[in-house]
Formats: sequence, structure tokens, C-alpha cells
Amino acid sequence: MLKPYYEIRRSLSFFRSYIGSARIIPQSTGDLIICFHGFGSRWLKGNSLYKATVYELKYTLYIIRKYFSIVTLEELLHESKKNNRQNRLAAITMDDGYSSILNIMDIFYSVNVIPSVFICPNLIDNCSVPFPEIIRASVFSSSKVILNCQFLNKSISLWRNNEKRRAISILIEIFKNYYGNKLKENLCILLYDLEVSNEQIQSHEIYDPLLSWNQIDSLSGDIHIGSHTLNHYHLSTISDAAAGQEILNSKQIIEKRIGRSCDIFCYPFGNQNSFSTREIELIRGADYNYSVTLEPSFISNKCGKFEIPRFNGLRHLCKSFK
Ligand SMILES: [Zn+2]
Repeated sequence: MLKPYYEIRRSLSFFRSYIGSARIIPQSTGDLIICFHGFGSRWLKGNSLYKATVYELKYTLYIIRKYFSIVTLEELLHESKKNNRQNRLAAITMDDGYSSILNIMDIFYSVNVIPSVFICPNLIDNCSVPFPEIIRASVFSSSKVILNCQFLNKSISLWRNNEKRRAISILIEIFKNYYGNKLKENLCILLYDLEVSNEQIQSHEIYDPLLSWNQIDSLSGDIHIGSHTLNHYHLSTISDAAAGQEILNSKQIIEKRIGRSCDIFCYPFGNQNSFSTREIELIRGADYNYSVTLEPSFISNKCGKFEIPRFNGLRHLCKSFK
């Protein structure tokens, strides 16, 4: 187990390795939204990009609060359209709704921050997680050193951690093409090829289950809820009707379950390839007010309200400071 001071030193050196200086200032003007996924009490070799440690979160909040006032996402999106503001605003968001959020809520309470959490109702109902998490946990819980499977045109070494991470990225890109039963079937085939069971995956330390509806209820008032589709499919690969359902039905289910309006949408994967004018029109038609991406940039009043950029964790944020 790493000692806390190692964690703090790691966060600091992580930041300095990008900016090369102890002086840290934002590279450009504008407001800022940061996205986190899950949180861990310590750094995990398998999930460093997707899971922040508690110290990384604290350090990120410390840096952001030096230059920005942290407000709710709704407030930021409302205010960012106004010209001639004195203070710069920041908002905290968390994608997928992992249950490790429960372990760090005290940090948000201590600085009076209400984060936004983007959830996928069908995955919560099925006690599942987004498929990239299943792939990540299955590769890391497998003891195979070479992966040979029908999805790859050549075998991949799983000997070192960086090779595992590379294999995970390749598999996620391939699996973005599947959805529904085909996705389920292909995940089963992958687990078979990796010789791991669902139980092994779920007991691996990088596996982070999603918040249940009861847990979401218990956080009511402390978090804001937005939609991240029903199933976390890559929207660009599914039909118009299926994409419409993912966007509209998720909003309707969330509003019914939490008894509040759900006005902000978050694209699964969030990069430029994961949405187009079709998705934007469907989101507008479903009566959302805004949607957020993972294109790393500060927010100006020129940003389209269905293409609001966000920085993905400390790593993206580091690149935007000098
Ligand atoms: Zn996601």
C-alpha cells in the first residue's frame, strides 16, 4: 500500500512533468469543466487514466480554486454566456456514476461543491458497468500472457502493464462497433478467451460498480444528475431510432426515478467521433438544454450549447496550464 505522502508527491510531479514549472496558471481565458470517472484510495496500475486518487482529486480542487470559483454545472452553463464577468467559473462532473464517488463526497462537502454525475439507467438496472470497464477489469484480472481472439487480427502480449493498457485501448475501439445482444455475446467470448469469469472481474480491485438507485437517492441534494444514455453505447454506430431511444428514454427514466428534471446530456466517450449533427438534433428534440463532450478546452461564449468542452481529469487539465 502506498503511503499518502507518496501520493501527494506523485500528484505534484505529475503536474510538473507536464508544465515543467512550479508556477501553474491557466493557458487561456474562459470557464472550465473537469470530468472524473471513479476514485481510488491509491494509484492503481490498471486504471490510472480513469481513476483518480483521493490526493489527485484534492490537488485538482486546490489548483482550480486558485483561479476559479467552483459552482454547479447548471450555474456555470447559464453564466458562461454573459460577457464582462469578473470571476472565472469551474464545475466538477463525474461520468458513469461509479460507487467510489461515495468515498470522496466528504471532500466535496468540505469545499461546498455540488458535482454533476452522468448516469446510464439501464446499466444501473442490470447491475452492470459501461463495457470499457468490463474490458479493462477482464484484461487486468486475466492471468493470460498472450491474447488470441477472433476480434484481433494478430495476438497481443499481455505480459507488461503497458501492453495490457494497449490491448485494452485496441479492444475498446473494436467493441465500440457493437451494441445490444451482439455486444453482450462478444463480451462473453472475450471473457472466455481471457479465461476469466464475471465473479473474478467483479472482485478485482479496479472494478468499481455503479451507484444503485437507492445510493443516488441518498445523495439527492448533494449531486446534480444528468443523462449519459441508457447503455453507454457508442452513439455514432447505432441506428437513428436506437440513438433516439438512448437519448430520450434515459432522460425520461431519470426524471421519473429522481423526481427532478434532467436537462444536461453527456456523450459516451465524448470525443469528436462519438457525436455528430444527428446526435445534436436528437438531443435538441429531446428537450435537453445542454450537452457536454470530452474535447479538452476552456469554455467561451462562442461554445455551442450541445458541444460544451470538458477536461478529462488531472492529466488533461495539466496540459491546459502553463
Ligand atoms: Zn462514460
